[in-house]
Amino acid sequence: MDQTDEYDERTKIVIVGAGIAGIAAAATLQEAGCDYIICEAQDRIGGRIFSVPVGETCIELGAQYLHGDEGDLAEYCRAKNLLSRIFGTDGEGLLLRDNGCAISSGTVLACDVNDVIHDTLHNCEQFYRHKETEYDIANNESVGNYLRKNFEKYLAECNDPAPIRKMKEEVFDFKMRYLQVDNSCDSMYELSLKLWGKYEIAGRDKYQMFKQGYISLLNTLAEDISSEKLRLNSPVKSIRWLDTLPTRTTATVLVETRQGKRILADAVIVTCSLGVLKHVHEKMFDPPLPRIMKCAIENLGFGVVNKIILRYDAPWWYSSVTGFQILPSHYRPEMPQLPEWTSYITGFDVLANHTSILVGWISGEGARAVEHVPEATIGMYVTSLLSRYMNRSIPLPVDCYTSTWFSNEYIRGGYCNITTNCEAANVSTSTLSEPIWAKVKDDSSVQVRLLGETLSKIDFFCSLLSFTILQRIPNYQYFIITDV
Ligand SMILES: Cc1cc2nc3c(=O)[nH]c(=O)nc-3n(C[C@H](O)[C@H](O)[C@H](O)COP(=O)(O)OP(=O)(O)OC[C@H]3O[C@@H](n4cnc5c(N)ncnc54)[C@H](O)[C@@H]3O)c2cc1C
Repeated sequence: MDQTDEYDERTKIVIVGAGIAGIAAAATLQEAGCDYIICEAQDRIGGRIFSVPVGETCIELGAQYLHGDEGDLAEYCRAKNLLSRIFGTDGEGLLLRDNGCAISSGTVLACDVNDVIHDTLHNCEQFYRHKETEYDIANNESVGNYLRKNFEKYLAECNDPAPIRKMKEEVFDFKMRYLQVDNSCDSMYELSLKLWGKYEIAGRDKYQMFKQGYISLLNTLAEDISSEKLRLNSPVKSIRWLDTLPTRTTATVLVETRQGKRILADAVIVTCSLGVLKHVHEKMFDPPLPRIMKCAIENLGFGVVNKIILRYDAPWWYSSVTGFQILPSHYRPEMPQLPEWTSYITGFDVLANHTSILVGWISGEGARAVEHVPEATIGMYVTSLLSRYMNRSIPLPVDCYTSTWFSNEYIRGGYCNITTNCEAANVSTSTLSEPIWAKVKDDSSVQVRLLGETLSKIDFFCSLLSFTILQRIPNYQYFIITDV
């Protein structure tokens, strides 16, 4: 029997994943009157957008801000009146030292270190955008190394007294860790300096929040998607495409779920995260993806970031404080040891739309380790950490919530970054947006493509991009991967 006779359902397009990319794709297809089915592995839509109601507010375990005030997504959110007038602040407030003293992030000393980092990164962006050679960047130079070199040059020029120099070093180390969270990587020494400028934001980065949580965007986009088309708890196991299907069929793709449901379609839109693709691409695609695509999937980075959210009955801090940032500590023997993962916490920001919630960030090994610790225990340890750094007793939170993006087998991390390995392999996020195949059913005019994050010239790791890509699908004969 013809293999394609063994299908359970027939549609035009299958969308794998119901995060913002998948839901935006479905909304686009819905509007175009095109037949489609979305298969989502989890029991909810949103993917890395995960707003959890807490009292009268919402906490975000994943994406929180609309970055950039221009572009399709910003326009859509404004048109639908989804945005709040509140803007968040990340990594600001009090910089806490392990001797119990605090430096305000607004002091000259902290601002000076910040400026060195800001100017260095700005130079890197200019280098990428204008391909300027004056910066003389070596191959495989990492962003971390370049920052460190410029900072040391700055320190040498300042010739500060030892205590000042030490404070500047602590602020620099904190900033590096903050960048680690911001770029979802284990270390800034992994990221390619040459390709740093690929990251771009549409308009000004304003950290704008949503009135009813980020999920309101997904719910608005999904308004016209019927439950018959949206299949939750339906993980896709395999995608057979191109010449593995008999040429006499008009369909080009056979998608099979883990429950064994086989859906025959003309195209598939795959929106799994890069972390998921790293794990499953070899098993999922038949035939396998072309070598250059595999190479990009393998060499692009996909680190881990998690949030630790603490809710109190009332704030124990002054209302003017926007956050508590932890300057990396030099172990003081008289203090009780805290678990190793606490040393990966960058700090805690006061949630801008809720005065008694702190949002903490953790990355790298610590972010992986904390996923195995019960939330109440996490609450206890971070209270000890804050008490130590504040040099006073801090109350326990009423609730502690943590994200577990790494152990979620349908996410497997935070978001992607461009490593120095990508340079040697000659791949980047844009590799995934190039046409890769031109043979479907003996019809060479129909191309098959993987489309990557850099299809759009904007912020490549955020939801903005996933959305924009799908607003630009030129026709539906394309095989698309987004947010990789
Ligand atoms: C902690 C954190 C904070 C962030 N902060 C921001 C922020 O402030 N602003 C911002 O713009 N971005 C932020 N991001 C990034 C943003 O969340 C993502 O870029 C965006 O949500 C990605 O959307 P997506 O639809 O492309 O992928 P995803 O959200 O990963 O959606 C993919 C979907 O596919 C499903 N799936 C996976 N495998 C299968 C399978 N085999 N079968 C069926 N379904 C499958 C998954 O369950 C998931 O629902 C943050 C991310 C994290 C983790």
